[in-house]
Amino acid sequence: MWSAISRWRQRRILSRTAIPDALWLEAAALRPFLAIYDADELSRLREKVVLFLHAKAIVGARGHEVTPLQRVVIAIEACVLVLELDMAFYDGFENVIVYPGEFVPDWEWEDEAGVVHRNDEPMAGEAMPGGPVVLSWPDVAASADWESTGMNLVIHEFAHKIDMRRGEADGCPPLPAGMSQDAWNEALASAYEDFCGRVDRRESTDIDAYAAESPAEFFAVLSEVFFADPLLFRREYRRLYEQFAAFYRQDPAARIRARG
Ligand SMILES: [Zn+2]
Repeated sequence: MWSAISRWRQRRILSRTAIPDALWLEAAALRPFLAIYDADELSRLREKVVLFLHAKAIVGARGHEVTPLQRVVIAIEACVLVLELDMAFYDGFENVIVYPGEFVPDWEWEDEAGVVHRNDEPMAGEAMPGGPVVLSWPDVAASADWESTGMNLVIHEFAHKIDMRRGEADGCPPLPAGMSQDAWNEALASAYEDFCGRVDRRESTDIDAYAAESPAEFFAVLSEVFFADPLLFRREYRRLYEQFAAFYRQDPAARIRARG
């Protein structure tokens, strides 16, 4: 549990565990959106990655072998979300499970009539309250190329984890003191309604139409856009962008301006 890890213990972990420079640079180069981070942000991100890898096991399933490079890439993307937040957002689960491809989840649910359903749709990723984050490696790898895929699987699933800090994912993470819940709800609801309308009318948008699935998916998809294509987000839904910037305590669009 992060909350139990005192500052000195974190320092001890950091002094004993390091990511070799070559491995760090190779992993960072696979995520072009990091180009807008300054040296100070990158060094703090690297510390969080070390702490994350110390606390979580990233394990392969169905014969998939997780390489050191894959572990660092996954940890970088998970930690980008909490670069300015407490790592306690990731308390309550131990593992990240990596499959060699899409997987069919093994959970069932019962509907109101008592009929038990199984989901047999293959999935690229999954996050459940209190459970592990599950990822398909080819989809994590494809996320390197935002320009052509327009998706970032790791950011998506860890955004769900942050959303789930208050229970079921509903598009509203726990806001810090000083942020207005009403302002968040209002900005989210109006952007979501507008987006669903555009999808219904089959208008083209650079934001993945999957975001119209539910407020929880809207939050997860928009978190991907926030980090990977912040100017797009700010252009389309400025008020919600400002809420995201206040929550994540980062302004990625301003980083692009600062870097010219
Ligand atoms: Zn999702």
